[in-house]
Amino acid sequence: MQKIEIYDTTLRDGSQGAGISFSVEEKLVITKILDDLGVDFIEGGWPGSNPKDELYFKKVKELPLKNTKIAAFSSTRRKGTLPHNDFFLRQMVDSNADCYCLFGKSWDRQVLEALNVSLDENLLMIRDSIEYLKKETGRPIFFDCEHFFDGYKSNSVYAEKVIKTAHEAGAERVILCDTNGGSFPEEIRTIVGNLKILKNIKWGIHAHNDGCLAVANTLDAVFSGCKQVQGTFNGIGERCGNTDLTSVIPNLQLKKGYNCLPSDGLKNLFKISQKIWELTHSKDRENQPFVGKHAFSHKGGIHVSAIDKAPEFYEHIKPELIGNKRNILISELSGRSNILSKFKDQYPQLENKTIIKKILNLIQEKEKEGLSFEGADAGLELLLREILGFKDSFLQKDYLKISDINFGKKKFSEASLSFFFEGRKKMAVSEGVGPIDALSKALRKSLIPFYPKVTQLKLTDYQVRIIDGHDGTKAKVRVIIEHQFEGTRPFSTVGMNENIIEASWDALVDALKYFILKENQTCLHMDTGY
Ligand SMILES: [Zn+2]
Repeated sequence: MQKIEIYDTTLRDGSQGAGISFSVEEKLVITKILDDLGVDFIEGGWPGSNPKDELYFKKVKELPLKNTKIAAFSSTRRKGTLPHNDFFLRQMVDSNADCYCLFGKSWDRQVLEALNVSLDENLLMIRDSIEYLKKETGRPIFFDCEHFFDGYKSNSVYAEKVIKTAHEAGAERVILCDTNGGSFPEEIRTIVGNLKILKNIKWGIHAHNDGCLAVANTLDAVFSGCKQVQGTFNGIGERCGNTDLTSVIPNLQLKKGYNCLPSDGLKNLFKISQKIWELTHSKDRENQPFVGKHAFSHKGGIHVSAIDKAPEFYEHIKPELIGNKRNILISELSGRSNILSKFKDQYPQLENKTIIKKILNLIQEKEKEGLSFEGADAGLELLLREILGFKDSFLQKDYLKISDINFGKKKFSEASLSFFFEGRKKMAVSEGVGPIDALSKALRKSLIPFYPKVTQLKLTDYQVRIIDGHDGTKAKVRVIIEHQFEGTRPFSTVGMNENIIEASWDALVDALKYFILKENQTCLHMDTGY
């Protein structure tokens, strides 16, 4: 298997994405998990550009990394300075990184109009910056040719001179950058193909996604001879982002036989993508190829009955190869096959045609009113059990009162509630930062004596959607609440009401009912695929 080096720049180029700012601790966590995954290089930051990056390069030395080399990133020296007097080049040396990535201009117009130096001066800046770093550190240097493809289209002779200069000065890899992200795969293929006349150079590709082609351009660059792929996890990065490594890696490794990661690493791709979404403090992209929660979700009845016969009819790879999972969605569009495919192993009585018709009718009726079970699997299972005649009388709502309290400078909400649990009335009071927080805490508190593990149940997402905006503030709202129990897959429940507190109360009570149900069935301990 041909080795492709994976060079991750989530911490540097990725952090240039809007709304993303990693703390030093978060950068170190990402470094650790990407090292466990087995990526070859992690670009940690730009030494000297901010105090966080300086601290990162100090602290990362204390991490016992087993697979990954840490790279520091910077530009060639400023014009009119000597390398040893250049602040950023000196910071590069001081970072004591395992290797270095220097970028320089390769587009003649950028040299003349943006950098404002002559074409020859730019070549000199590239040459003596690389030679200086090489002499001072003795470590590998990669050279990023910024705007390479635009440069090549403008003046191919000059763009090639830039490459030759970097190579002769001692750069181990020459990285071809589609900095503006506007190139087409065909152009990448032709240009990388033309470069083969330059012998003994090891190439890399660094693409951006402005034309939604970063992954396609990266794959074509690899097929044309590039041995290093630069990109970010989940494709985060400036403007429309960088090449998404979570797509490039499985495409190359599973479909084209290249070796990017150790195979046990590939099985963790879904989990690591989710963890990185969490650390970027952004919502994950559910339809993200390969690693999205819905990348293997099936809704249409025809699709579901077909994948029951052969999953490859509607799945391009086996989801478990990258740690993802097939998911059957149930909605008003669903047919019998969706319900059966999802629940028949647990509830064989669903084979009965009258029962299944009753279930489908009820789902359609509820969805007409505005309830949706598509993102609320747990809520759906409770409904199904009700129709099948199970008596899950764990929790019955009785009374709820929420008060907003202003106590001096302190403002909080207080929930007082009562409910029936296994026939007996229970009461609880709890404070929270807001009404839903107070309600959720009061419910759990009252269950702790019976189910101590309820303290480990975490509320992980809370979504509200207005069903019919024309009714203004009297409109019905649908609340979907996601919970997660100790490293298992999250589950969701749904509530709907004109009153947001009532809708949340319904969804929270259902979540606890589901938790108790699975606790009793000990299923929560079995489903540890997440
Ligand atoms: Zn970039």
